[in-house]
Amino acid sequence: MQLQNPTLFRQHALINHEWRQSAHGKRIDVTNPFDQTIIGSIPDLSADEVRDAVQFAKDAQKAWADKTAFERGEILHRWADLIDQNIDDLALIMTTEQGKPLKESKGEIGYANSFIRWFAEEGKRIYGDTIPAKHAKLRHIVLKQPIGVCAAITPWNFPAAMITRKVAPALASGCTMIVRPDSQTPFSALALGELAIQAGLPKGVLQIVTGEAKVIGSVLTEHPDIKKLSFTGSTQVGKLLMAQSASTLKKLSLELGGNAPFIIFDDANIDKAIEGVMSSKYRNAGQTCVCANRIYVQRGIFDEFVSLFKQKVEALSVGSGLDDPDLGCLINEKAIKNTQELLKDALDKGATLITGGTPHPKHPACFLPTVVTDITSQMRIAHEEIFAPIAALYPFDTESEVIAQANDTPYGLAAYFYTDNHARSWRVTERLEYGMVAQNTGLLSTEVAPFGGVKESGFGREGSKYGMDEYVTTKYWCLDIGE
Ligand code: NAP
Repeated sequence: MQLQNPTLFRQHALINHEWRQSAHGKRIDVTNPFDQTIIGSIPDLSADEVRDAVQFAKDAQKAWADKTAFERGEILHRWADLIDQNIDDLALIMTTEQGKPLKESKGEIGYANSFIRWFAEEGKRIYGDTIPAKHAKLRHIVLKQPIGVCAAITPWNFPAAMITRKVAPALASGCTMIVRPDSQTPFSALALGELAIQAGLPKGVLQIVTGEAKVIGSVLTEHPDIKKLSFTGSTQVGKLLMAQSASTLKKLSLELGGNAPFIIFDDANIDKAIEGVMSSKYRNAGQTCVCANRIYVQRGIFDEFVSLFKQKVEALSVGSGLDDPDLGCLINEKAIKNTQELLKDALDKGATLITGGTPHPKHPACFLPTVVTDITSQMRIAHEEIFAPIAALYPFDTESEVIAQANDTPYGLAAYFYTDNHARSWRVTERLEYGMVAQNTGLLSTEVAPFGGVKESGFGREGSKYGMDEYVTTKYWCLDIGE
């Protein structure tokens, strides 16, 4: 990696502003998923070393909370300025360790930074309340206070944004934070840590611990001094972390898996709908939790849709993220294998392959953008999160039928629909059992709106004014003023 600012490439954990190796010296290699070359390594910290970080976070928290929201906001804005100034290097690090096209990495850095700027300001608006009392001498006041030491466990698919949307509200509200990034994409996190130091964040306020998920996960869930854990990842791991956190009754935010329906009614603008599906399905090579997973197209326009969609999909370029194609590689060999198995299961049970269907002939770490039809409920693809560039298309007849199908899943993160019928817009939005509904657009994530799910997609919201609630406690003060 030819970085303009080589100090951004850190291969140590960040504990109390020190770049640390683990005492036992064990390290974990990090590879470029496109060509499997080793790009560096990170320390495999012991549980005791993670506990040290918790102690530093605890020691730092009071002084950080004693600063005004304006002072904290100033530091957060300086951090964001440095991220902007280093965006090319940060994008290069991200593409090298994650595989997404450079333009998507740059887009993610901008998106990640939008949370820092948003919460730098939102910290100034953590309002309490005064409540009219039933008795003349009483006063009822509500104070919002930082929850304390927080922790975040984040996945590989958005190595920067999943961090900043947890760290920024935590820091803005006066909490300190310990982040455990995914071992496949730790360098984006560590580069953000370096810039946070340069921005003047005090010691212990943001620490980044690297190593085995289970070892670090146990400390972050079971340590009594950690008051809040925010996790983004699969529903399976989310449930495990929730169970582990029970002994200390931690406040939790869980942003888990999705199985997004994408519904196109026959009164929709078909070209716009195709554009929406393309951006929702193939961004990050299909590896996002809000990717269109089940694409329902009303029967009258189904054949036309399939033929137009196929042309668009076949025009997508695929290759090394560094060459900035439309789609980069998948995160690892296991992901390629899972994708092949999911597709084979569908094809063996009678699905029709419209296009794609294999890894790229020249780039085996990439999977060709794929379209399948004739899906039945016996196929795994109808129920599981695909997390790969496979678009599964289903015809439907009526509004009530498609709503029932869309809701027939334990997940409830994002849902999409296209229609120009106003009354239907209300009906469909109200009846979809999802935390987020997008109409006539395939992209819904923004720092100004609440991101999060219902059902087994988890709970808690990130971004917007609601994102701050996750990092504050509500204290009720009852005061008798006498006389
Ligand atoms: P995953 O297996 O749940 O892993 C997520 C993170 O948790 C990884 O860093 C992983 O570390 C760590 N982890 C695994 N087991 C752990 C344990 N016992 N204790 C502590 N940490 C543990 O998910 P994934 O397959 O990598 O990521 C994709 C999933 O995340 C999808 O289901 C997707 O829908 C979901 N996701 C959700 C959102 C959202 O906002 N709702 C956003 C992005 C992704 P190791 O990799 O080292 O095991």
